[in-house]
Parts: sequence; C-alpha cells; structure tokens
Amino acid sequence: MPLEIPFDNSYARLPERFYVRQPPVPVRAPELLLLNRGLGAELGIDPDALQSPEGVQVLAGNAVPSGSDPLAQAYAGHQFGGFSPVLGDGRALLLGEMVDSQGRRRDIQLKGSGPTAFSRPGSDGRSPLGPAIREFIVSEAMHALGIPSTRSLAVVATGERVRRVEIEPGGVLTRIASSHIRVGTFQFFAARGDAEAVRLLAEHVIARHYPEVEGPLGLLDAVIARQAQLVAQWMGVGFIHGVMNTDNTSISGETIDYGPCAFMDSYHPATVYSSIDHQGRYAYQNQPDILAWNLAQFATSLLPLIDPDQETAITAAQAAMERYPALVRRHWSAVFRAKIGLVTEQPGDDALIGDLLARMVEGQADFTNTFRALAAGTPRDEFLDPAAFDAWEADWRKRLEQDTAPDRLQARLRAANPAIIPRNHRVEQAIDAATQGDMAPAARLVAALSRPFEDLAEDDADLARPPTEAERVHRTFCG
Ligand code: AMP
Ligand code: MG
Ligand code: MG
Repeated sequence: MPLEIPFDNSYARLPERFYVRQPPVPVRAPELLLLNRGLGAELGIDPDALQSPEGVQVLAGNAVPSGSDPLAQAYAGHQFGGFSPVLGDGRALLLGEMVDSQGRRRDIQLKGSGPTAFSRPGSDGRSPLGPAIREFIVSEAMHALGIPSTRSLAVVATGERVRRVEIEPGGVLTRIASSHIRVGTFQFFAARGDAEAVRLLAEHVIARHYPEVEGPLGLLDAVIARQAQLVAQWMGVGFIHGVMNTDNTSISGETIDYGPCAFMDSYHPATVYSSIDHQGRYAYQNQPDILAWNLAQFATSLLPLIDPDQETAITAAQAAMERYPALVRRHWSAVFRAKIGLVTEQPGDDALIGDLLARMVEGQADFTNTFRALAAGTPRDEFLDPAAFDAWEADWRKRLEQDTAPDRLQARLRAANPAIIPRNHRVEQAIDAATQGDMAPAARLVAALSRPFEDLAEDDADLARPPTEAERVHRTFCG
C-alpha cells in the first residue's frame, strides 16, 4: 500500500509572516529504528506503509509526501527568564496537519530535519539519535500515564553524525501534536507590536483548541485551566520538565519539548536533573510557580486584544491570573488525594499528603514505588526508617474510615499510582544499546511503559527497580 496522509494544512493558510516554507534536508542513509504502529493506526495512516521504503524516506525527510507543505514555525520565548524575540523551528519542520480517525486535528512534525531560517547560528538543525529515542520513550510513557502530551510516531537513524559534546549518530523524530503553538508563538507577534497577527493567532487557536470559548479573556482562562491541570499531573508522577521556557509551554495544554526532562527516583522537592539549569529554576517543586510566570507572559501578549484601554486590559488579565493559584492547588490536591486512595475531600487532606511527602524526603523513599506500594501494603519498606511510615499510616487509616467504598481501595490506589515510569537509568541504557545497534532494550521499555497501571510481568520487574548508586543518572542534557 502506498503511503497516503490526508493533509489539511490550516497553519499554512495563515499569513506568510507566521512561518518560513522550506523542505526538509535529506539524510544519507535512513534506517527506521522505532515505529509507533498504534499511533499510526489512530491517525489513520497505514503502519505498513510507514514501514515501507517509501514511508521511511518520508519519516527521514528525504521525501515530501503529497499534500505536505513543510514549514518552519516562527516563535519567540523567555528562556530561563530572558526574552529571545526570535526562536522558531531551527531544527524542525511542520509537514502539515491532518484530521485523525476521531476527528482531532493533529500536527505532523519532523524534528532533526536540517537547518532552517530559524536555526541557531552555527547549529546544524539536526538532532542526535539519543534525544530522539529519549523523546519517543518518555512522551509515549506520559501518554500512557494519562497525561496530555505530544506523541512520537517514529525514530529514524540518519546514517550521519552530529557534533555535540561528542560526535554522535543523528536521528529524526516524527512528532505528533494537537498543535505546536506555544506561549512563545503569541509572544513573537506581541513583541513586535503586530496586534493583527496576535488576533489571527488567537482566532486560529480558539477554533482549533477551544471552540467553546469566546474572546481573548475566554482563551486566557481556558489555557490557564488546561495548564494548571497539566502541571498538577506532572507533579503526581514525579515528572520534571527541565526547560519550562515559554516556547516550551503549549497553548493546547500538552506536555511538549522533551529535552533534559526526567522522572524522580527518590523523592525530594528540590530535585533538578537538567545540566543547563544551574539555579534550579525548573526544579520539581518550582514547576507550578514557573507555569504561573509563563501564563503571565501569555496574558501580557493578549493585552491589546483584551481591551484598547491598557489599564482595563491589565485589570482583567490580572483577575484571570489571580484564579490560577487556587486552581493549581485544587488540581494538585485532587491528584494526590487519589494517590492515597481518598474519594471525598476533607479539610485535613492536604496536610495528610504533605506529611507523607515530608516523611518520604526524610526516608529517601522512591516516589513511584512508595505510592504504588500503598496498594500492596508494603510502603514501609521504601523508607530508611520504616517507623516513619507507620506513624503516618495510622492517620491515613483513620482518614480512610471516613470515606465510602473502602473495599475498592486497592483498585483505586493501583489506578492512581503507576507501577512503572521511564527511569533515567533505564532510558540511558536503552539509548546506549540503540547507539550500538541494539534496539531490544528500547523496545522492551516502550512496551512495558505502555501499560503503566498494570502489575509488571515477572521478567519486567527489574524495570521498576530504582537505580543503584552506580546506575544513578545525575544530569540530563538537551539534544
Ligand atoms: P529548545 O532548547 O529545543 O527549546 O530550542 C531553542 C531554540 O534553539 C529553538 O529555536 C530551536 O529551534 C533552536 N535549536 C535547538 N537546537 C538546534 C540545532 N541543533 N540546530 C539549530 N537550531 C537549534
Ligand atoms: Mg523548544
Ligand atoms: Mg528542545
């Protein structure tokens, strides 16, 4: 079967100043390493056709499929708090959009497809293979955990080398997103005073992601709501994004841009992995506050649309922002109440959760395994001093008695607490093996991560084990 993708490219119909058109730059010797057949089917793209020589040429950027209109999207962004007025797709291209089998519009993007008009000076527009595999594994794991995320359709090795700290093999990731529109996309136009473009972009986004809302204030509220929910979900699985720059905050509310992201092993709120985050700006516990900061930049971009009178616009935007702290707190509470099996909401619940987390820090307890062990009745083993858990357990049991459906407790705990997350050392091992030409560990990890709430098969139990001191990954890197 020939590869057929029913493209319908709405972003390409926006004015020319939203992007720069160009085809991907071909690579020397493409080889398909990972293919997400399930996602292909969900999109309505024949997985066998993707796997065919013709399909691999497309996934490598060596052939542009019919109906595609490749372009690099323009955006700006605050990176570590400093504003860059022009970022844009410097090593990625939007091939186009299509409407999937469930009627959802999805972007198809190649990441690592060669230099564009937006490439960082002196940069190659490419991606090393490692980060492409890493994004595939972690984004698909996030999706399986029920957390909104961009998806990964395929990883192709390019047969070329890229120069980073070391010389590494290159890769191209095919990324699927409900869109690649970011807070930084709004900032790009707002910063140059192009209110007409901000208006067109807001209209595009409302039609595409928030058809139920009206006007810029409605859009602001809707994005705040989705992002507040998203960050609470990150917190609930111990996910640290690592680069919460405004260009990496998506308007649709999906997790986007898996660079130096990581899942925590033992719980500590100040955990940072990213090698470029020297100040811990994007540490685990800072994420809700950083998101508030990013959303404030979004609100600022919308000001000219909110009201011609600046004072009035600011007052309205501030009112929207003031609802955020309570919103994120409520989502956080709901996520963590579920993690300890609570059904109802009672005044002391946050304190009870906070007490457990404090004891987990003290006891160097593994974040994922401690919560998962609540269902199995073995969490005390996760603590350096098991008595610290026992003291908390008494309070927890007392609180559970006030809830309904105690018989379903185990099932609830299992449904809220994954047995497996993509642990850094496992991801690194899978990448190392892939770099040596062995895809088996990556394939095994991807398969196990696709059903995170089921008990692991006996021969996958090692994937849930925290790293030994020698295995522990201390730093993660950008691609
Ligand atoms: P990121 O850190 O991935 O959010 O990227 C920040 C900016 O740098 C974006 O404009 C990227 O497109 C650009 N960039 C990142 N890596 C490369 C690369 N290898 N070649 C060219 N541009 C890049
Ligand atoms: Mg980015
Ligand atoms: Mg990146």
